[in-house]
Formats: sequence, structure tokens, C-alpha cells
Amino acid sequence: MRNLKSLARKNRPSFAHLMVLIIGLLMTGWVVGCTQGEEEPQADPQTDPEESDTAEDPPLEVITSISILADLVENVAGDRVSVDYLVPLGEEPEEYEPTPSDFQKLSEADLFFINGYHLETWLDQVSQNISEGRIVATAEGGPTIPLEGSNIPDPHLWLDPLLVKNYYVEAITEALIELDPEGKEVYQERAEAFKEALVELDAWIETKLSEVEDPHRVVITSENCFKYFGDAYDFYVEGIWEINAPEEGTPQQIAKIIDLVNDKDVPAVFVESTINPQYMEQVSEETGTTIGGQVYSDDLGPEGSGACTYIDMMKTNTRVFADALSP
Ligand SMILES: [Zn+2]
Repeated sequence: MRNLKSLARKNRPSFAHLMVLIIGLLMTGWVVGCTQGEEEPQADPQTDPEESDTAEDPPLEVITSISILADLVENVAGDRVSVDYLVPLGEEPEEYEPTPSDFQKLSEADLFFINGYHLETWLDQVSQNISEGRIVATAEGGPTIPLEGSNIPDPHLWLDPLLVKNYYVEAITEALIELDPEGKEVYQERAEAFKEALVELDAWIETKLSEVEDPHRVVITSENCFKYFGDAYDFYVEGIWEINAPEEGTPQQIAKIIDLVNDKDVPAVFVESTINPQYMEQVSEETGTTIGGQVYSDDLGPEGSGACTYIDMMKTNTRVFADALSP
């Protein structure tokens, strides 16, 4: 931005300059939106506190466990905070192994937003690096559906946008205001706007999924992670396994889902962006049911995926389900 401004000040820009400027701005916005958290925000020398003493550096350093939470925080906080996340795109949060750089990031962070409900099975490994009062479990307090055959809540509440609105956004806004009271109005205004967008998203999903008729309202994924989504939009959901864990995709689990797909005559099954598709490919081969596409459950998508924000990821999932399951 600064370079472009000074360039514009020096010369009256030609049409070609203007086009370059506009394209540059569009690309910058897009790239930042899609890669947030992947790179250290300090990597840009213009915002590196070592290189510059401008007052533009964000006052708060926020870390989240997963990329989805980072987008929720950005929606509420805008540029008052710098946000980074720990679990890289494409990795299962339930089986993540924290790295030395994660410990470093957390020791410098003002807040650490986690999902809670045991999604972050590795929390004990990193929790000494940040004081307890700075760890905020954004899903906890929300109504839960237990994992099958257990009292433990399924942690994937974010797959229902109204639970995001009522619990995650509330928890994030409250924690930001507590730490940065001067930003209260900004956080509240942005949170309200984001909540409206989530209500619209919910209505959009509902309408889009009305294309899918009753016997086909079935979502089968590798991890049975769409329970809250299924509850919100009246879909039957099932997975090869209940929750990501080291012994997932056993022959017994695969046999069970093959029986279910055959019994229910399921038109399509789905693979998740964080999971090796080999398990679902086996189900597909042995039942003749197609793989309806890739969906995002535990992470956002990379640049160009159409799923690099929470809202886009939910829309992408919905389109994939509707296209594969409607007649
Ligand atoms: Zn998961």
C-alpha cells in the first residue's frame, strides 16, 4: 500500500499505471485473505518491528489452533490484531504434533483461541507456554452432540454457522474486549456485521440443500464430523470412523460403512481435505458409489480452492453436497 501511494504521489498515473495498481490491490487483498496465518506477519519488512518503528503494528498477537478459528477472529478483529494459526492446512487437528515454532509463537501471544471439547488433544503439550487466562475455548458452552458410544462431545460445532454465531463469535468478541477495551466498539460492530453474514449463510445453505430430496439427505465422510451440520439441516450423517485418531480406517470400520452405503443406496460419499482419500476410495470401489467431491471440515482451503474463508468453505461444502446428492 505504502509503495503504491508514494508512486501515485510522484506522477499523475497513466491508465496503465492505474490498471497495475488496481490489479495489485485486488491481488494483495485476495492473497492476504487466503494465506493469513500461514506466514509470519512480520515477514514483511515494512511491518517488522525490528525494521520500522511506525505505530501501524497491530497491538495484539493472537494465535488460534486451527485455520477456521483464525478466520473467525479476523472477522471480529480486523486489523487491530495479527492472527496466526498452528495446525497447517491439510493436517488433522486431532492428531497434530506441536512444533518448536508453535511454542515460540504461543510464548509471544496475547491470546490463544482453541476450539475446546478435546479437539486439541495436544493442548497439554503447549499450555505451559501461555498463561491459563489467555487460553479461550471458543466452542465450549455450546450445545453438544456426543461421539457415538461415548459421553465425550463431538468437537466440530463450527460446522453449524448458527453455533458459530451464538458461541464462537461471542467468546472471541468477549475475550478481545477484555484484553483490549479500547477496541470495544470496533469489535462489537464487526461482530454484529459478521453475525448477520452468518445468519445469511445459514439461510443460503438451507435453500441450497432444499435441492436434495429426502432419501438422499445423507452425508458420509471419513471422519464422522458433520453431526452439527446434519442436525442443523436435517441430514443423516455417518463416517468410517467417529473422530480422527491413530487407529482410523480399520477393515472393520470400512466394512461397516460399505454395508451402510449398500443398505441405504447412498448416491455419493465424500472425502475431507485433511484425510487420505484411500479409505473412501475403497468404499467407493466396493460399493460402486461415486466420490461426490472433497469437502472441508477441519481446515480452510488453500488459495484458489474457493474455501479460504469460513463462509466460502461452508458454501463450497454445501455446493459439493447438493451437486452430488441431488437428482
Ligand atoms: Zn476433525
